[in-house]
Amino acid sequence: MKTTAYAAETATSPLAPFHFQRRDLGKHDVQIEILYCGVCHSDLHTVRSEWQGTTYPCVPGHEIVGRAVQVGEEVNKFKAGDTVGVGCMVDSCRSCANCQDNLEQFCENGTTFTYNSADKHTGGITYGGYSDGIVVDQAFVLKIPDNLDLAAAAPLLCAGITTYSPLHHNNVSKGQKVGVVGLGGLGHMGVKLAKALGAHVVVFTTSSNKVEDALRLGADEVVNSKNADEMKKHLNSFHFILDTVSAQHDINAYLVLLKRQGNLTQVGVPPEPLSLNVGSLIFGRRSLSGSLIGGIKETQEMLDFCGKHNITSDIELISIQQINEAYDRLVKSDVKYRFVIDMASLQ
Ligand code: NAP
Ligand code: ZN
Ligand code: ZN
Repeated sequence: MKTTAYAAETATSPLAPFHFQRRDLGKHDVQIEILYCGVCHSDLHTVRSEWQGTTYPCVPGHEIVGRAVQVGEEVNKFKAGDTVGVGCMVDSCRSCANCQDNLEQFCENGTTFTYNSADKHTGGITYGGYSDGIVVDQAFVLKIPDNLDLAAAAPLLCAGITTYSPLHHNNVSKGQKVGVVGLGGLGHMGVKLAKALGAHVVVFTTSSNKVEDALRLGADEVVNSKNADEMKKHLNSFHFILDTVSAQHDINAYLVLLKRQGNLTQVGVPPEPLSLNVGSLIFGRRSLSGSLIGGIKETQEMLDFCGKHNITSDIELISIQQINEAYDRLVKSDVKYRFVIDMASLQ
């Protein structure tokens, strides 16, 4: 299938128009016309090879919402015309212990991520959602609830599940004090979801101009994380903290805010290692974890939860031609609170 996209040719070149062929529709596949694609900070880390290991050309994008235009003969979950989503994964082995447990993101034989992964079908590399269409096995296609705005629902496919999964795994519930560090794409979804689960939510931000928005998004309190006195007021008080920061920062400053046996889960992936003062874990038997997106079953559960609670992302809709400018703004934390590309702009 002839496909038009935006790709980066090197770690330092801007994203620019690119043409390639998708595989032909297989019997288990759904062919999707992409309507919207969210812009995740992982796209930027990958395009600029900040985590190393990027294969070029690189077509990023893993917050895909579109319309099924054609389905393979054995597809039974979707039909042409359905509104569908694709997140960070397009395949896995489906037989290892983790796949069997619906945790395809941890496939022992290697998850096929939506972009920059080995593509079993073409022998090349997978190309993501900054494109006009994609062909995906139905097992990795999600249903988008009818009541949600399609552009604003796109970020649920990564930012939504990445924050929903650790909140659930840590049993965040009514009355608990929960912190969200960094108010960007992931952070603002974390606030909305933690609030919907009944938690008392505290946002930690380095951007003083985000305070009003944080409260509007549902935060009960906002802390300027650069202010040591404000931080000190929250010592030993959190059940759970979700850290979404994309760059180097001091996690010890947050670990000491946890109650006894509290947990801080890191979902942000700064390219450089973070330094850990083990004292902040030892005193209070606190724990530090990581979490990677969520499995397909949990992603559908999250979408249905968002449909029920009418939760979507706060977005800035951009044309594909504005993508390089959007990346420059992401680096400056100037995002309110997710860029979403209107794929109609890709001609
Ligand atoms: P984003 O929209 O750019 O938000 C990141 C936020 O972090 C910024 O808005 C800013 O919030 C804060 N921040 C940035 N630089 C900072 C610094 N130097 N010190 C302190 N705070 C800083 O990014 P995103 O799309 O939410 O992604 C966040 C991170 O999660 C990225 O590293 C991304 O790769 C990763 N990620 C992980 C997973 C996973 O499965 N684990 C999934 C998706 C993304 P304030 O302005 O409020 O301070
Ligand atoms: Zn992402
Ligand atoms: Zn597997």
